[in-house]
Amino acid sequence: MNELAINGGNKIKTTPFGTGRRFGFEEGKELLEALEQNTLFYHAGNKVKTFLNNFNELYGVKYSVAASSGTAAIHVALGVSGVTVGDEVITSPITDQGTLIGILYQNAIPVFADLDPNSYNLSPESVEEKITDRTKAIVVVHLAGNPVDMDPIMEIATKYRLKVIEDCAQSYMAKYEGKLVGTIGDYGCFSTNDFKHISTGDGGMVTINSNDEDDFKTAHAFADKNYQRFGTNVQRELNYLAPNYRMTELQGAVGIAQLKKLPFICEKRTKHGDEISMGIKDLKGIYSHKVNKNDTCTYWFYMFRIDEESFSCSRNEFAEALRAEGIPASAGYIPQVVYLNGLFQNKQAYINSHFPFELSSTVYKKGLCPEAEKILLTSIRIPVSEFYTDDDIRDIVNAIHKVTSYYQINKVKAN
Ligand SMILES: *Cc1c(COP(=O)(O)O)cnc(C)c1O
Repeated sequence: MNELAINGGNKIKTTPFGTGRRFGFEEGKELLEALEQNTLFYHAGNKVKTFLNNFNELYGVKYSVAASSGTAAIHVALGVSGVTVGDEVITSPITDQGTLIGILYQNAIPVFADLDPNSYNLSPESVEEKITDRTKAIVVVHLAGNPVDMDPIMEIATKYRLKVIEDCAQSYMAKYEGKLVGTIGDYGCFSTNDFKHISTGDGGMVTINSNDEDDFKTAHAFADKNYQRFGTNVQRELNYLAPNYRMTELQGAVGIAQLKKLPFICEKRTKHGDEISMGIKDLKGIYSHKVNKNDTCTYWFYMFRIDEESFSCSRNEFAEALRAEGIPASAGYIPQVVYLNGLFQNKQAYINSHFPFELSSTVYKKGLCPEAEKILLTSIRIPVSEFYTDDDIRDIVNAIHKVTSYYQINKVKAN
């Protein structure tokens, strides 16, 4: 029993992980209704409108705008915030590139702040250190469904008059101090790409938290080539540059059905993730996924860290041993912090150009955000699914215990 599976012992996981179907008759019915409208255009049909109304109700917000992706949603929020050429936007170095694309398309400069070692979210102290007189906005990323510590971020934003955009692509229904993330900053941006809590294939939403009608109308037009379509009143005056980020009725239709499943999906994920944390919190050399006391994490994935000094194996060997036990663990999240990618190392956002980086003295060297770099070298990620069973969670916890006790050094000397 104690022999690791990687060394020829018995595996912990002897039954398949729970799975299920994300789409069913409900989505099919909505799609058929969308087609029967004889239009797939959001302004002519009712599916995107209903989807947004239901989303607004679920989130308790007055206004939101649909977009073609999460990346598009973030770009809309940046555009409406007035982020433009040479501005600096502070964000997280551990994120999907969708967080950064809009910043660069506005010809603004991404500036990376460091992270809390165990929540993997922006550290407010580091954010404040990165502020210059060019800083225009902060894009916080609630990574893996875990709320960023928003109160200090909002205080900093007020103090320096900055816009706050929440990237909620991985954090549906997550709550900071009881408040839904995405409703705290100026704008909350969501993704419905096929890998998120809910899927419409691709898609996105932006909440307009100012509750200001003009702000809403500007955001709406920014996602629709500057068309201003409200009721029967349609104007196409071009006052500024705006891309086509429209959502189609097919996405809206699937979204209506998916939203109904969202509370269940998130409750399950919260339960599963918190149970993994409970199960491993006393293990020496293991740091569980840290969620602040009054917050709710909806675990897009679960990630813990190991203190390599406490083990006779490397992080990669630890993850490999878990995989041999039948747990689909992987080493870290993204391969490296985003600023170590060629785009930042070569300061080349546009092919054959160094614009807008040449406007700024910002550097993107290794060591810029030491904690973020360390997180990616010492973390182990385990996928979470709403379809997992209690047995699956028990097996994940038992496998981490088994691998920990095998590789732990100084077991006897403990305490
Ligand atoms: C998925 C994701 C995005 C981008 O969403 P798309 O719909 O794929 O464009 C942005 N930020 C984060 C943190 C994400 O996980």
